[in-house]
Amino acid sequence: METAVQQHTYKKENALFPFCKGCGHHHYVNHLDEALVKLNLDPNKVCIVSDIGCIGILDSLFATPHTFHTTHGRSTAFATGIELADGILNDSKLKTIVVIGDGGATIGLLHLVNAALMNVDVTVLLANNFLYGMTGGQHSQFSPLEFVTPTTPAGNIVPPMDICSIVKSCGATFVRQAAATDKQLGDVIAEAIAHPGFALVEILELCPEWALPFNKIDGKSINEKLHAENNMNAAAVRQDFTTLYKEKVLGSPKKMVDDTITPKYSSALNGTCRIVLAGTAGEKVQLASFLFMKSAISSTLHATQKNDNPVTQGSGFSLSEVCISSEEILYTGIDTPDVVIISSPEGLKEVTANGTLARCSSDTIVVAEQTLSEFDCAGKVSRLPLRALCTGSRAALSALASLNMIKGWVSQDALLEMIDGKFKEKSLLYHRDIEALIPFVKI
Ligand code: SF4
Ligand SMILES: [Mg+2]
Repeated sequence: METAVQQHTYKKENALFPFCKGCGHHHYVNHLDEALVKLNLDPNKVCIVSDIGCIGILDSLFATPHTFHTTHGRSTAFATGIELADGILNDSKLKTIVVIGDGGATIGLLHLVNAALMNVDVTVLLANNFLYGMTGGQHSQFSPLEFVTPTTPAGNIVPPMDICSIVKSCGATFVRQAAATDKQLGDVIAEAIAHPGFALVEILELCPEWALPFNKIDGKSINEKLHAENNMNAAAVRQDFTTLYKEKVLGSPKKMVDDTITPKYSSALNGTCRIVLAGTAGEKVQLASFLFMKSAISSTLHATQKNDNPVTQGSGFSLSEVCISSEEILYTGIDTPDVVIISSPEGLKEVTANGTLARCSSDTIVVAEQTLSEFDCAGKVSRLPLRALCTGSRAALSALASLNMIKGWVSQDALLEMIDGKFKEKSLLYHRDIEALIPFVKI
């Protein structure tokens, strides 16, 4: 293996990780970097081939190696081609590393199988967090039994695929499984990269955004749990899918929350009110919209909600558009907003960039955190000490609830009921915020 001047990192200086707080991908990136440093590879002889999903945006964090971003599940096929071309045209000087999640591995399974069968000199680092993180937390073929996701609300009834056994059965000679938090993972990855021929490391991770809210799972239990599931996978007698579905899904109560809303309040709203909330991911901006939308339905109104955030769910800006109406809502877009609430600099940047502020009319009510920089907008702008009074995580909902207290778009009783139901004893903080904010609202 060729070496070069000792590198201390292959990442970009001050690289800003785009992943949600607590995401296993942080460990993955750092361990990969550690392995490259350990091997002291010439960055020009390293090619990182990334796939889809949150892990797929890792390549932007690396400064010096070649990076190649590919399509759904096809990274291993591209890597195979790169490796063959390098072997035939360039005497196998390149180390080709596939960065793929469990979603990509499921979609492109045959490419993994074929690369293992060919024993092409490619290292596959498979980030398995048991679900599709970027697209909404749907289960994957790697989800453990009973794993609760938006697509398996009663718990997953299909045993997980055992990728290690699959590639071993295809002749792979280096196959390992490790947790992302494992301190030895950098060494394991280095060994896999140095291994001549196909190598796969399955890296078990947690997606705090989608796995933690619905499942009792933590870093420590990950290894044990997956091994147990895989053993069940090998059980000699299994119920067929239809029998299981009838018994476990149709025949048992849903494990996820039943969100059925029965209208029991009323509202004086006549027409439609279109509201944009803009803030920072993790500060309950979309939850504020969701509770407001539910309270609108409870107030016998129609309601829609549309969310936007960067590809990773829990970092960067968070935007939500909610429409409430006394009439059926046939158009869910917001051309001219009636209300815009901006609770953080990330929110301001986004509503500036996406044109929301430019589309405000002189009737638009704009409530903005008072410490934000100046911005151009035709609307009636009130600057409130949202973050000082409510903290970032309550700012959006408290601002919306105090505006609603004055304007009466939805029943305030319905909204407070939603807040109390969601936050239990902590809802008192919202009651306090609403009272504190009202004197500042000038509309
Ligand atoms: S959505 Fe899940 S997998 Fe994606 S960055 Fe967030 S925590 Fe990580
Ligand atoms: Mg995944």
